[in-house]
Amino acid sequence: MGTSRQSGPWSEKGSAGKAAENNASSASCCYRCIECNQEATELYRDYNHGVLKITICKSCQKPVDKYIEYDPVIILINAILCKAQAYRHILFNTKINIHGKLCIFCLLCEAYLRWLQLQDSSQHIDPDDLIRYAKEWDFYRMFTIASLEQMAFFIGIFAGLWLIQPTTLRRKSNFILLLKALLLSSYGKLLLIPAVIWEHDYTPLCLRLIKVFVLTSNSQAVRVTLNISRKLSLLTILSGLVLESSVVCFFQRMGWDVESDCSIYKT
Ligand SMILES: [Zn+2]
Repeated sequence: MGTSRQSGPWSEKGSAGKAAENNASSASCCYRCIECNQEATELYRDYNHGVLKITICKSCQKPVDKYIEYDPVIILINAILCKAQAYRHILFNTKINIHGKLCIFCLLCEAYLRWLQLQDSSQHIDPDDLIRYAKEWDFYRMFTIASLEQMAFFIGIFAGLWLIQPTTLRRKSNFILLLKALLLSSYGKLLLIPAVIWEHDYTPLCLRLIKVFVLTSNSQAVRVTLNISRKLSLLTILSGLVLESSVVCFFQRMGWDVESDCSIYKT
């Protein structure tokens, strides 16, 4: 429980540990206990002579954040397993600031996948295909459509939350934190690229599993961020999916070849 350590092991903790150390310098920042979600003022206390002691949660009597000692790979594995403690560590107790870049990269992956599907689905030889710029514009179009669908999904989640439990989004900080959590928890979309590169007979199944994994991660992120029930978080994800599907339906009625998730996963 209350472990005292020399400074040696702490210097080898990796990025999570370093982030926590940086966090410790800002005393005004609030952390969360990864076990019970109770707020905490510090993750560990730095005594003289390099002796550090992990803070114990006053509510549940467990270490506030055991993951500050863990290797980042272990934390990532726990996050992949959708453990709420790992999500709380990443979302509340670290200063990970890659959600914007990650979102752009995920959208690029998705746009690339749709662009590939578009090339495969075009049976006829269009003279425009001979022009490189036409293909390039197709990619930009897919990127824009993927972005709009992603936006619709998030708006659907926020709208669902607003309708079901309006008190959760009254604080601006909750809104921003939830948006960051949703962007971070969509990291599973990075798997789209290897799934396409190592193409085989089970690729459509892989794409469906990736979609399920991303939705599960999103649901867990909503649940942990707002500290709501699993049922409510699933409902919000469902409302996001409904709005996203409506947008896809609208695009298809407009006659746009969107190659969206639905059309990809139906193959
Ligand atoms: Zn606790």
